[in-house]
Amino acid sequence: MNSRTLLVLLVSLLAYPAAAQDTLNLYSARHYQTDEALYDNFTKATGIRIQRIEGREDELIERIKNEGASSPADVFITVDAARLAQADALGLFAPIRSKLIEARVPAHLRSTNWVAFSTRARVIIYNEVTVTPDQVRTYESLAEPGMKGKVCSRSGSHPYNLSLGAALIAHWGEAKTEDWARRLVANFARPPKGGDTDQIKAVAAGECQVAISNTYYLVRLMRSNKPEDRQTMEKVGVVWPNQASFGTHINVSGGGILKTAPHKDAAVRFLEYLSSDEAQVHFANGNNEWPVVRTAIIKNPELASLGQFKADTLNIGQLAQHVATAQKVFDRAGFR
Ligand code: FE
Repeated sequence: MNSRTLLVLLVSLLAYPAAAQDTLNLYSARHYQTDEALYDNFTKATGIRIQRIEGREDELIERIKNEGASSPADVFITVDAARLAQADALGLFAPIRSKLIEARVPAHLRSTNWVAFSTRARVIIYNEVTVTPDQVRTYESLAEPGMKGKVCSRSGSHPYNLSLGAALIAHWGEAKTEDWARRLVANFARPPKGGDTDQIKAVAAGECQVAISNTYYLVRLMRSNKPEDRQTMEKVGVVWPNQASFGTHINVSGGGILKTAPHKDAAVRFLEYLSSDEAQVHFANGNNEWPVVRTAIIKNPELASLGQFKADTLNIGQLAQHVATAQKVFDRAGFR
């Protein structure tokens, strides 16, 4: 072999490292049918095939841990900052190095090792017959004595509530958040059960009068082809909490690149694709979430009908650091 041949060989080895980048192994804990089209579009745009493994977030995290260095997983995506933080705390993610993502995704919606691609707000809903919006302008108000026997909630250990608790700890500190949680629990109309949609239905039915819900559940009911779902939404009002202080708590869908990813380049391209206008619009139109990229123009009248609000701009990476404490605080307060 002459030196020129050797040079060509070296260059080609550098150009095609480890694995061919024409496949992406996606571990997804997002189970929205509307995401399928998104993946197809990525393949059409890049030629990179997506092999998808779906599961519950804890199962997928466990699987990646067990597979260790030989894990085929390239990207892990899920909903909720608490879950992304959990994966990150286990050391599963590698830093995301992309100028494009840095330019497109606002700084408070990414951490070093994971990035958000859509947002949802955790709002207060109330029964329009029995409660006025002025009674429930803040998360604090749900814990006031006037709300005794009126509040219903999903479990305090659910990641959506843990992320909210983490945000409150960041703003108020641990002691105030624990006091709030204890007084909130004292106001419950019934022990926590069901998902956000169950709380909305219970408020509409008058079983309780106020609850907290993610926005996309509201919009899903508004867009439902079942008349009873739309009637449910006619009976409840929506409040953007804490507009006069830190703003409404925001949670995210997001993802990260696994440290052991065999297809790191494809993984970066996939996360970059999720921040493209095309993908961003898709999240809004398909799953009723807000894009993280402001230039994305959405066509979702029901989502738009919720209007504008002041969102909490607490950094989601910072928020995630309080999730474990939030669990302890809620446990102590009896919010299970
Ligand atoms: Fe959800």
